[in-house]
Amino acid sequence: MATLEIKGLHVEIEGKEILKGVDLTINTNEIHAIMGPNGTGKSTLAQAIMGHPRYEITSGSVTLDGEDVLEMEVDERANAGLFLAMQYPSEVAGVTNADFLRSAINAKREEGDEIPLMSFIRELDAKMDTLEMHEDMATRYLNEGFSGGEKKRNEILQLMMLKPKFAILDEIDSGLDIDALRIVSKGVNEMRGENFGCLIITHYQRLLDYITPDHVHVMMQGKVVKSGGPELAQKLEAEGYDWLQQELGIEA
Ligand code: ADP
Ligand code: MG
Ligand code: MG
Repeated sequence: MATLEIKGLHVEIEGKEILKGVDLTINTNEIHAIMGPNGTGKSTLAQAIMGHPRYEITSGSVTLDGEDVLEMEVDERANAGLFLAMQYPSEVAGVTNADFLRSAINAKREEGDEIPLMSFIRELDAKMDTLEMHEDMATRYLNEGFSGGEKKRNEILQLMMLKPKFAILDEIDSGLDIDALRIVSKGVNEMRGENFGCLIITHYQRLLDYITPDHVHVMMQGKVVKSGGPELAQKLEAEGYDWLQQELGIEA
């Protein structure tokens, strides 16, 4: 089992404190969802964990099996087993999707232990089938002219091929129609297991109808203010956030 532990995380953007002490522990074999109103710092949390330079960590820690993630360069974080949907370049001229994936996989492996081309192709074919992706998506240039839905599917393809220990999926559901949502969820559900933990950030409960989380957390004003099981997401969907703000004495 691997553990990603976030403790007392405070993060500022341009001198303004956005995260005000976030605590969260995610183990492999667990899917966690973070919900919460817009502007409460959900994406800030994802970006800070992945090392976006704009986000300044003023205190707290993020560790992966005890290793200090915040000390690592962005590519070291990926090599240590973290994956953030959206972490990869939006468009890469002249590099096909398949080439990009193969280099990303090989970058995580030891020199001399590169993935054999045939196994790579076989695995890529199988996963593209699962995600109902057209085969020409492999030979197209990365993200060039991909539709919104194709980009999201491709992010899940990257996830399935790279097999990180932990993935952070920030609003992977935004702009997806029901078919695309179902397929993207199928990919994430296929990853579930002993070697995979996931943090799903979503504004809507809809995605959680397809990917049942083990733990649900609500973030408000830069903190995790409530945690529970899947029923918490359902209650938020039905009743909104007002009851929780009242319960906690937070101004809307
Ligand atoms: P969420 O994902 O929960 O909607 P964000 O983490 O995106 O929230 O944003 C939290 C707060 O930080 C918001 O008040 C937002 O305006 C601010 N913020 C986010 N990104 C930036 C940025 N790059 N520069 C300045 N302020 C930002
Ligand atoms: Mg648990
Ligand atoms: Mg966000």
